Amino acid sequence: MAKPQIWVFMEQRSGALHEVSLELLGKARELAAASGGTVAALVLGADVTGLADTVIAHGADIVLLADHPSLEPYRLLPYTFILAQACREGRPSILLFGATSMGMELAPRLAARLQTGLSAHCIDLRLDSDGNLLQMVPGWGGGVVATIKCPRHRPQMATVMPGVLKKSEPSPRSGQIINLPVGADLDVSGPRVLEIHREEPQEMPLEAAEVVVAGGWGIGGQEGWKLVEELAGLLGGAVGATRPPVDEGWASEAQMIGQSGKTVRPRLYIGVGISGMSHHVVGMDGSEFVVAINSDPQAPIFEVADMGLVGDYREILSPLLDAIRQRLKP
Ligand SMILES: Cc1cc2nc3c(=O)[nH]c(=O)nc-3n(C[C@H](O)[C@H](O)[C@H](O)COP(=O)(O)OP(=O)(O)OC[C@H]3O[C@@H](n4cnc5c(N)ncnc54)[C@H](O)[C@@H]3O)c2cc1C
Repeated sequence: MAKPQIWVFMEQRSGALHEVSLELLGKARELAAASGGTVAALVLGADVTGLADTVIAHGADIVLLADHPSLEPYRLLPYTFILAQACREGRPSILLFGATSMGMELAPRLAARLQTGLSAHCIDLRLDSDGNLLQMVPGWGGGVVATIKCPRHRPQMATVMPGVLKKSEPSPRSGQIINLPVGADLDVSGPRVLEIHREEPQEMPLEAAEVVVAGGWGIGGQEGWKLVEELAGLLGGAVGATRPPVDEGWASEAQMIGQSGKTVRPRLYIGVGISGMSHHVVGMDGSEFVVAINSDPQAPIFEVADMGLVGDYREILSPLLDAIRQRLKP
């Protein structure tokens, strides 16, 4: 098997590394151990040289570093330019990104520049006996997991869902730091960031919650959504959502669970008015106990549920909320 050069894009904002980058490093290390390959981490930003030690401790043999004031905040075009240049010179065999908003914007543009393919939203990665990257992607509504490989083009590029791979643990290791050239003209190219508005974080972060109450299109509007929020609040849990409530503005993007959203593994997941399309289910099927509430007895969510309640959610939630309120009364 050829020894692959595995590159990982380390997503950082204001010097804080995104968890998915450490998860990707863990996977890259595992693939390198199986193939005798090397792992390089791409770190771009301003004042990010200090991240190199962390990245090496988490599994990188080499840090490819671009530390320049014009690289903070993140901007698509300068990042694409630097990464494309680095790839043309370093010729990695594999290049991995988190399937975050940054990764989902950057990776396809870079793939087009490098004239290679890209598998989006992977849930696992392996190597075949020839050293080709096997990229596992949920497909056709999530009913199957397709294995994609890209035998003729390099690098083999993939974005991987946050939360599906195991994060690498830091250990004392040594590595090499290579500075990437940053052109003086980067400042003038493309759109500029004028202001950054930070969304208020949920009181209970979705990924850490032991109870998740998720609502879907079947909730029907803001009024019903309040019941979902109240149930989550009374159970000390977090509110999740499928794609349609996010599109409707009942829930925020950060609350979306699934292939393009977050992966949750709570002790209790309650899905209300959710059909159970695979795009959503891939983000919640690691939950310990799943309760589904749906008016359609044929809804696919019941196939992954430990307990199913068939009926109009209002008729089910109203007495349930009353009973919980009653029990919580001092
Ligand atoms: C590339 C791609 C990525 C995607 N990524 C995601 C993702 O990350 N996350 C995600 O969630 N979706 C994602 N989607 C969308 C996904 O395919 C589904 O469209 C979505 O999950 C459906 O959401 P839903 O179950 O809320 O709505 P629907 O499928 O419309 O289901 C609504 C359910 O509510 C039930 N219902 C209606 N009224 C009531 C009532 N009064 N009481 C009880 N039940 C009721 C209905 O019986 C139905 O089963 C993606 C799609 C694509 C193409």
